[in-house]
Amino acid sequence: MSKGLPKRNEDYSLWYNELVKRADLAENSPVRGCMIIKPYGFSIWEKMQAALDKMFKDTGHTNAYFPIFIPKSYLSKEASHVEGFAKECAVVTHYRLKNAPDGSGVIVDPEAKLEEELIIRPTSETVIWSAYKNWVQSYRDLPILLNQWANVVRWEMRTRIFLRTAEFLWQEGHTAHATAKEAQEETLQMLEVYATFAEQHLALPVIRGVKTPNERFAGAEDTYCIEALMQDGKALQAGTSHFLGQNFAKAFDVKFANKEGKLDYVWGTSWGVSTRLMGALIMAHSDDEGLVLPPKLAPIQVVIVPIFKGEEQLAKISEKVQVVRNELLAKGISVKFDTRDTHSPGYKFADYELKGVPVRIAIGPRDLENGTAEVARRDTKEKKVYALEGLANHIETLLEDIQQNIYNKALAFRQANTTKVDSYAEFKEVLDSKGGFVLAHWDGTSETEEIIKDETKATIRCIPINAQPEEGKCMYSGKPSSRRVVFARAY
Ligand code: AMP
Repeated sequence: MSKGLPKRNEDYSLWYNELVKRADLAENSPVRGCMIIKPYGFSIWEKMQAALDKMFKDTGHTNAYFPIFIPKSYLSKEASHVEGFAKECAVVTHYRLKNAPDGSGVIVDPEAKLEEELIIRPTSETVIWSAYKNWVQSYRDLPILLNQWANVVRWEMRTRIFLRTAEFLWQEGHTAHATAKEAQEETLQMLEVYATFAEQHLALPVIRGVKTPNERFAGAEDTYCIEALMQDGKALQAGTSHFLGQNFAKAFDVKFANKEGKLDYVWGTSWGVSTRLMGALIMAHSDDEGLVLPPKLAPIQVVIVPIFKGEEQLAKISEKVQVVRNELLAKGISVKFDTRDTHSPGYKFADYELKGVPVRIAIGPRDLENGTAEVARRDTKEKKVYALEGLANHIETLLEDIQQNIYNKALAFRQANTTKVDSYAEFKEVLDSKGGFVLAHWDGTSETEEIIKDETKATIRCIPINAQPEEGKCMYSGKPSSRRVVFARAY
């Protein structure tokens, strides 16, 4: 086995990049900023997709699919939308290549210029609302509750694998409603779906909040978000839910006849989470030995490693393992029995540790005699010997315990790294010494927010939706403030 991972506290960024590579999650592609998601990484993403997809369907949504190409004119119909996305759009101008006359290779055929240039979707509001125009006539056609699983492209200048890539995979929900109230309720409902998913599946505590106007989605009236804290003290925006008001309905002329027969514009929402969640998962829980996966998202929940010499011993161990394995499978627990004789048990132990498999069972000749197995949990690295009899029941509870423990650990970390400050000097001191979430008073102006960002690189992550009102003074301007907001340096 190659030498260990870099240490988190020595070079967090290197640790992350190496972990992504060595745990076989993903690698960089020939195109800068794009990634190849490898089978093990993709299996984790598929588990996220499955859990989210169920939550979307349980709240009444269905999946659909819209094209990857958006006519350029569509993007410009909503003024702030195009302004927000223009600087990171990939544009298709031609549809054919041809051999260069001088034989130097292939070139873009100038004859094959598109009449209207196409944008590769950075998000799909425009193409979807142009379809909604044809789908909606009366209040009977509402609500529309759609989601799509897709890839999008945003030509990001500073990329980092999973966290910020030029192409990423995501889901985007797009809903249309008869009233503002209904659309607002949908926006908050989906924020809560994301928060629940983050907490119960990713084992990641999140702050539910609303973005300041500066950080709002281009084209939204309000952007809600979930914000998580990574182990290096930086924040990560893990999901967003937007109340679009009537902005896209107005841009695409989507009107409906209400119950009174009067025409009105439709109200909209959109919401998304992306492969960034893979980065959140890795950065929040993993350690210097490798990934630590919450059992609910682990492609392999239990690995069984036999310790044997020769076929005969393996056959005897396998006989016992089959019983345990079947019991585990019957409980819906995924199990891998690694009988390879090409790798030593020690190699396998380290490799499954690197890959974050929550539980490892080892069975050797002595265990056979005693009817036992050694059980090791990845999160605490604790090892214990158990009887094979009743082992499956014990593993089932252990997996639940690990899921909870990973969450508790992340929550304790967040609590230890959330600081209230009342002066700008203290604010800067906390940011430089430990980072984390900093709760401070702010005067509510974009000017102050910008100055603080320029001077400290910290942004307002959100105004928590359940924040208690608290009279105070803006730490920067001294002007009055009615509640604390969450600042942090962020990814
Ligand atoms: P937005 O449409 O900007 O609200 O983003 C929707 C979701 O995609 C959010 O959860 C973002 O965290 C995520 N996201 C935005 N840009 C990127 C990117 N370049 N790479 C990965 N995820 C992204």
